[in-house]
Amino acid sequence: MHHKNYPLKDLNSFALDVSAKELIFAETIEQVKIFAQNLPEQFYILGGGSNSLFIENYLGTIFCPDLRGIDVRDDENNFYLHVASGENWHELVKYCLTSNMPGLENLALIPGNCGAAPIQNIGAYGVEFANVCDYVDWFDFQSLKTIRMSAEHCQFSYRDSIFKGALKNKGVVVAVGIKLSKTWVPTLKYQGLNELGENPTPKQVFDTVIAIRESKLPDPKRIPNAGSFFKNPIVNHQTFAAIKAQYPNFPAYPANGTDMKLAAGWLIQESQLKGVAIGGAAVHTLQALVLINNNNATGKNVIELARHVQKTVKQIFNVDLEPEVRLISAQGEQLIEDIN
Ligand SMILES: Cc1cc2nc3c(=O)[nH]c(=O)nc-3n(C[C@H](O)[C@H](O)[C@H](O)COP(=O)(O)OP(=O)(O)OC[C@H]3O[C@@H](n4cnc5c(N)ncnc54)[C@H](O)[C@@H]3O)c2cc1C
Repeated sequence: MHHKNYPLKDLNSFALDVSAKELIFAETIEQVKIFAQNLPEQFYILGGGSNSLFIENYLGTIFCPDLRGIDVRDDENNFYLHVASGENWHELVKYCLTSNMPGLENLALIPGNCGAAPIQNIGAYGVEFANVCDYVDWFDFQSLKTIRMSAEHCQFSYRDSIFKGALKNKGVVVAVGIKLSKTWVPTLKYQGLNELGENPTPKQVFDTVIAIRESKLPDPKRIPNAGSFFKNPIVNHQTFAAIKAQYPNFPAYPANGTDMKLAAGWLIQESQLKGVAIGGAAVHTLQALVLINNNNATGKNVIELARHVQKTVKQIFNVDLEPEVRLISAQGEQLIEDIN
């Protein structure tokens, strides 16, 4: 389906009142192929819109790969799921749980589509998409063929993959393959989950993840937002030591050998930014890592607020915060420092 001047308000979890010059839904591989054969000069691939911030009306084509279907097979040791990109991620987690195929419960309640899961390698509560990925089916715009990529080929790392780098705009995820071991081992290292005792059921883990998330994160349907606005920054040992000397209890985790991953939410909170607002955009009062649209915000309000957060955290902690959310201006995706 092909649309002109399409409103995006219901297609982005920030609920920004913007539109796209053109929007195309594809429900079959054949329709994906037709799009690829007529590739517009400027396009943006959109799933559930829960990690995309449209700063203003988009002047190119939005492409929505809305393919559906879940196939399951198994062998002695594993379940193998083949999931089309337009399926909703949380619905998949629920389906696996109720079908006695545990393994995804730590990733419950992450909004968005399954096709977007490998893009930033979604993760929560000690589990990442990379841990369960068997393969990604990638429709290559040049060869017009679907290529099956192994998890290794996807180059997953923290909120990153080959799809954000070398393969950006070169194709589209049409399905993901997920492998779940029949020998379920719960991942319980995160606070809240580590109180579940030694032998919780998958349902208990699922319910606890949901309860923790609902207590901390605003529901985008009521308070529009795109989850964590910034990535947790990874800093060298010198920067870490300087902060630790002043704040002995601040949360940090080892990353990449000697580097440390810091909790971005904590840095923002300690910078006294909770509740700070610019126009209709504000830093959430319960979870400082989330920027919200609480009063008809414009995309520019959100960008100005994000810059204010970056500048303040830099001044106080000498740490750079990088947006996790994808930022799209009229001409296409841009880095925050390049936006006018
Ligand atoms: C309340 C809330 C909580 C969140 N919690 C988490 C969390 O715990 N962990 C986490 O990792 N994320 C979290 N997120 C972010 C978001 O849910 C994930 O990034 C999710 O994978 C985005 O899916 P989407 O379909 O909405 O992506 P979109 O915003 O539509 O797209 C995201 C990116 O993926 C690309 N893309 C989408 N589909 C495809 C495709 N089929 N092929 C190629 N490229 C594609 C887009 O071009 C874009 O660059 C949260 C968001 C919200 C609103």
